[in-house]
Amino acid sequence: MTRAIISFDTELSAGLYQRGVDARANFDSSILGRCREGDFGIHFQMDLLDRHGLLGVYFIDPMPALVYGPEIIDAIVQPIVARGHEVQLHIHTEWLKFANFNPVGRLTGRNIGDFPLAAQKKLIALARDILVGAGAARPTAFRAGNFGANDDTLRALAALGFRFDSSFNGAYQGHGCAISLDAGNLGMREHHGICEVPVSGLMDRANRFRPAQLCAMSEEEMRDALDHSAASGAMQFSAFSHSFELLSRDRKVPNRLAIARMEALCRAIADDARVTSGGFATLPAPPVRPGRIQVAAPKPLRTLRRVVEQGLGHLAHEVRYVRDLIYVTVNSSRWGKIAGGILLAVA
Ligand SMILES: [Zn+2]
Repeated sequence: MTRAIISFDTELSAGLYQRGVDARANFDSSILGRCREGDFGIHFQMDLLDRHGLLGVYFIDPMPALVYGPEIIDAIVQPIVARGHEVQLHIHTEWLKFANFNPVGRLTGRNIGDFPLAAQKKLIALARDILVGAGAARPTAFRAGNFGANDDTLRALAALGFRFDSSFNGAYQGHGCAISLDAGNLGMREHHGICEVPVSGLMDRANRFRPAQLCAMSEEEMRDALDHSAASGAMQFSAFSHSFELLSRDRKVPNRLAIARMEALCRAIADDARVTSGGFATLPAPPVRPGRIQVAAPKPLRTLRRVVEQGLGHLAHEVRYVRDLIYVTVNSSRWGKIAGGILLAVA
């Protein structure tokens, strides 16, 4: 059986903080996925998962507690725990430069892998303690923000008693992810005392890995990647998203394409007899000599279909934006309303 792990990196935005957005608004947008049409964040995701009888894994970043105080992390962790989904540890060290208290002195860095081993251990231990303090079970799995982990991160995790790391993403290798593994092998395996659970994916061109990320893959690619893992006898299929990924890039409206993709992924997992849903808490360790799980080969037409689909998705978003603009403009005068009526009928 292949364990399908659907995970969501769940995090407040350091970018919004830098632009002066307050804690409440950052939480509403980044965690609740709130826009004028409703909420499309963690609760919407859990509703969808529940409808298909699936478990979600939420990798939560506790670092904003160093800036905003711990209550905001309680507000993220508790509803997820209450609804029976799994909480694991994520870390965005970008927050350190805004922190009131820095556990590693004057060291700062974008990625956890930028820090020496002793500092990584301190930061991960502190982040874990904040998460547990917020009501989470002791985390057993970790994912670095920006997939920015290195081999020292794995050593730090092993020393702290973690069992799994999920920071290895072939698309980020050489772009922040510095774990020394072969990106052509998607199998779970031990590395520096911890079990690495790579992000799944497929090749979309001869030399390019496409990760199983909701907004990066078409329904067809996601289904193919899942099917390939199950057919190869892989222990796990690991797909990921973010707490805010069902919103458009500007976060103003829901991203209907991403929502349709998530529904399709849930259906594909629920309908496949070779696949079970679950998280890391009950994930068995890999065998001592795990088999190699080769990444699925590229299919040029499949890649082309996704490029067209994404293009149409962006176009639909732009058309809606223009329609909204016309609507607001024309409703400000009587002639505008008449002209606008015609325009909207045409658009
Ligand atoms: Zn993240």
